[in-house]
Amino acid sequence: MCSDRRYDYIVVGAGSAGGIVAARLAEDADCRVLLLEQGPPNTSWTVRVPGLLRENFKPGRAYMRWYRTIPQPRLDGRVIDHPRGIGLGGSSLVNGMVYLRGNPGDYDRWAREGARGWSYADVLPCFRRMERRAEGGDAYRGGEGPIGVQRKDRLHPLNEVFLEAGRQAGYGFTEDVNGREQEGFCRFDMNVDRGFRASSYYAFVEKGPQRPNLTVMSGVAVRRVEIEGGRATGVELGPSRRATSLRAEREIILSAGAIGSPQLLLLSGIGPADELGRLGIAPVHDLPGVGRNLHDHLELDLQWACLKPITVNGLLRPHKMALIGLEWFLFRSGFAAVNQCHVGAFLRSAPAVPHPDIQLHFFPVCYDGWVPRRNQHGFRLAAGPMRQTSRGSLTLCSADPRDPPLLDPNYLDSEQDRQEMRSAYAVLQEIVSQKAFDPYRGRPLDPAIMPGSPAEIDAIIRRLATTSFHLCGSCRMGAEDDETAVVDPSTRLRGLAGLRVVDASIMPSIVSSNLNAPVMMMAERASDLIRGRSGGA
Ligand SMILES: Cc1cc2nc3c(=O)[nH]c(=O)nc-3n(C[C@H](O)[C@H](O)[C@H](O)COP(=O)(O)OP(=O)(O)OC[C@H]3O[C@@H](n4cnc5c(N)ncnc54)[C@H](O)[C@@H]3O)c2cc1C
Repeated sequence: MCSDRRYDYIVVGAGSAGGIVAARLAEDADCRVLLLEQGPPNTSWTVRVPGLLRENFKPGRAYMRWYRTIPQPRLDGRVIDHPRGIGLGGSSLVNGMVYLRGNPGDYDRWAREGARGWSYADVLPCFRRMERRAEGGDAYRGGEGPIGVQRKDRLHPLNEVFLEAGRQAGYGFTEDVNGREQEGFCRFDMNVDRGFRASSYYAFVEKGPQRPNLTVMSGVAVRRVEIEGGRATGVELGPSRRATSLRAEREIILSAGAIGSPQLLLLSGIGPADELGRLGIAPVHDLPGVGRNLHDHLELDLQWACLKPITVNGLLRPHKMALIGLEWFLFRSGFAAVNQCHVGAFLRSAPAVPHPDIQLHFFPVCYDGWVPRRNQHGFRLAAGPMRQTSRGSLTLCSADPRDPPLLDPNYLDSEQDRQEMRSAYAVLQEIVSQKAFDPYRGRPLDPAIMPGSPAEIDAIIRRLATTSFHLCGSCRMGAEDDETAVVDPSTRLRGLAGLRVVDASIMPSIVSSNLNAPVMMMAERASDLIRGRSGGA
């Protein structure tokens, strides 16, 4: 069945990238834009109130879809859970709201890797244009964009302890990690706007100008892109057997994320022809790079008991939570109005390293699995390398769109990544053993994290390292003549007309920070390219 509704552009996936692409394309009033999202509308408090972020991790919650890797040989054969956000906002509905842009050199590296037009000088105007920083704009920062960005007013005392520990260990401090200088201990910005989670959908679509030419459908999964005569013409909605098709007269933009976009391409017969043939999917366009180059940030999240009862864990009592809730409802302020990570650091593991290669996140709270502990005061310090060199893959296990794909980030495959992970562990221990922590540092909450021999440290890494939730690269952007790339520097799929991919999957290589702001920037830049505009602030 083919719907007679016609659209110029169909954007698949309303995540960090898709919401922005759809909103920007709809600025051209004569364009009919359709945004399709498989998850629910963003109506629940758990995706609106920043302090409720960990609620989404509880079993059965509507905004999270859980994936798993295949067993990782360098992590003692463990499978790593990979939650992804679904709904109007995608992973920006459930993420930690830490707002970081990466290192300027990451984008210059993209340009060297073939993504012409994506150097730092090219992308800086897009970063500036999208953000509305509470302190206002400057040569690096934006002050008038849709995405609200702010810092917590007053730091928790343990956050101050962490910053002091950095100073005691001899590291520098940077005033604005998203500005001129990334390196050093720093305060983090967060994607929060006047007490609300500033997901890209919330900022660009819900709070943006109302546009009659933008249609949004949630609860609608796309199962295949339709190709006719070398051109993408529409999408087929699933998962039922009686499929409905929707047609796009100009282009289809896949923004289904680092898992969803390659999965959709493969289900549509676009990918390595031999692999597709083995699954009984008729190859439509042989594109060997689809699903290759999957990678991620790996980190160690280590926790210590806190000797003083001052941590955020102490707020998780019913009467305190009631007061916190009341403050949020009355004033949109207080603990519920912020995320949980406000300080961190970008450091070099050795003076010869030309860019910060280790990131630290500090949390004045400890967790039991995914959710904060209620009966234990503690803090968490996370550390991990920034520019992973190990590369893995995403492949289908069947031709059924309901089957999750096989994820293999191939963690720690390269010796360089293993070495950087050891450095990350060393920095983490260095910081937590500074004098500043003496009055607070209790026992390690996982006894296995005591420093030991190099072999013991490797064992800790294999047993405890986990994802930072930064899957990317599975539809790599590369030069026009790069046959292993999936999209060209204009985000167009190689060799097929009318189809683009815009999301974390097209990153040529991972950037040196959390990925949400970089993905939103990519959506801004890609919107300019689709609209034939040169871009700018
Ligand atoms: C738990 C978690 C915490 C994180 N914390 C941070 C953080 O604090 N700071 C930070 O910078 N980054 C963070 N990240 C990373 C960041 O949020 C993601 O990298 C980013 O949101 C990815 O954006 P995207 O547009 O590529 O994909 P997504 O935002 O995941 O969007 C993809 C969308 O496509 C939809 N979709 C997929 N397939 C289909 C289909 N077939 N049909 C219809 N719709 C479909 C999905 O439902 C989803 O809504 C976190 C990620 C997670 C998961």
